[in-house]
Amino acid sequence: MLYINGEWREASSGKTFDVTNPATGEVVGTVANGGTTDTQAAIDAAKAAFGTWSRLTAKERYAYLKKTADILRGRTEKIAQQITREMGKPVAEARGEIGLAIDYLDWYAEEGKRIYGDTIPSASPNKRILVLRQPVGVVGAITPWNFPIAMITRKLAPALAAGCTILLKAASSTPLSAIEVFKALHEAEVPKGVANLVNGAASEVVGAMMASPIVRKITFTGSTEVGKELVRQSADTMKKVSMELGGHAPFLVFDDADLEKAAEGAIASKFRNAGQTCVCTNRIYVQKSVAERFASILAEKMKKLVVGNGLEAGVTIGPMIDADALEKAQEHIDDAVEKGASILCGGSRLTEGAFANGYFFAPTVLIGATHDMKISYEETFGPVAPIFTFNTEEEVIQRANDTVYGLASYLFTKDGSRMFRVAEQLEYGIVGINDALPTVAQAPFGGVKESGVGREGGKYGIEDYLDYKFLSLQLEL
Ligand code: NAP
Repeated sequence: MLYINGEWREASSGKTFDVTNPATGEVVGTVANGGTTDTQAAIDAAKAAFGTWSRLTAKERYAYLKKTADILRGRTEKIAQQITREMGKPVAEARGEIGLAIDYLDWYAEEGKRIYGDTIPSASPNKRILVLRQPVGVVGAITPWNFPIAMITRKLAPALAAGCTILLKAASSTPLSAIEVFKALHEAEVPKGVANLVNGAASEVVGAMMASPIVRKITFTGSTEVGKELVRQSADTMKKVSMELGGHAPFLVFDDADLEKAAEGAIASKFRNAGQTCVCTNRIYVQKSVAERFASILAEKMKKLVVGNGLEAGVTIGPMIDADALEKAQEHIDDAVEKGASILCGGSRLTEGAFANGYFFAPTVLIGATHDMKISYEETFGPVAPIFTFNTEEEVIQRANDTVYGLASYLFTKDGSRMFRVAEQLEYGIVGINDALPTVAQAPFGGVKESGVGREGGKYGIEDYLDYKFLSLQLEL
């Protein structure tokens, strides 16, 4: 169903599409396939609602967001199962994602109360200068499938807290999770038109958003390729843009690191969500003197990973999202092996028995990786960890930065000075220092270079939904 102007609707064309479980191939839902007409209706609804919503007090908007968060909290288990059926991640990871999704709602419900303006000293004795912060207007949001609920609230919560209204298109692989968020908004009695959901073909839904002069801001999370295209399209109506795009995270292990913790961190960062997160490690760099030891610790710990249907107890790695994703992982492995890498574990798709109908891939570690291999410069987005070796700090910083991406990076060391020295030179928006899972609602998440523009999370994340208005007052004193 589409959610437009406070109502659940079928697509105006009557079209629908199926959602399948990547672990089993079963159809788990059929949803309305929205198009241009539906998107236009959502834009009109968001425009009509903007006047009233933007003039509510922050405290009033807080109450709606808080109520939405509470409703989702109460449904964690049901929605976690839904996420797993729809996109495959283990249900424990899905619960964690819902916790993060709720954190964004809770955090921005409060942050909306702290949208402060400024007063600026004037150069004339009879003038006063004030700066107001005001919502940008109607927001178009586009989200990916890999975090089908947290990527939604990370946009929706700051947008609504700032006083904007929104229309959202979720990824076509995961529309059911998006529907759960909008059910919660509906039950929280968020006024009609404030938040609208139009799932459907990207060309039509996103096309209509981009063409509309009413949509003043586009917030997108997805691939760099699509992000670049949306930035180009936004020029015609000069929309504000926020882009959370792809990554190619380096994971640096120095010889003084706690190798047990570094190996655990590498696994958490690389294999969470079957390697399908934008902050997943894509290159592991280990200082030569400890490389062999690190690889054997890693191989030992890899044995604890259990691939399977994420709904089953004990499974730590679910299926990949689709056949293309499997193909890319295999392509990166084959290319690396051809260029001299060796497979320490894994290496191919799993097809036997319970794996027969799903998109399962064996968690893979490659050793002897080099910089001519595709895996060293293309985002793999799969459970493949290549290990490179290095000699010096300078060398590894240069290699880590040698990419068009700049989202997340990680370094493991016990040397406090090195932590700062290296972190300050890494050209990335996020640096996890002895920390493989840095994402939290109160911190600025986002990248530099071709990983995007803008930040989501924390006091920074609401900025993108606000404009400045300069008031100049001439007084008679
Ligand atoms: P994607 O193919 O770019 O799709 C993302 C969204 O854009 C989906 O809603 C998709 O709709 C839509 N879309 C696809 N093609 C489009 C087009 N030509 N014009 C307009 N919209 C279009 O990315 P994905 O495969 O879902 O997600 C994986 C990518 O997202 C990776 O590169 C990952 O690194 C990145 N990511 C980044 C962050 C971050 O915060 N930086 C977080 C998560 C993921 P359909 O589903 O209908 O095609």
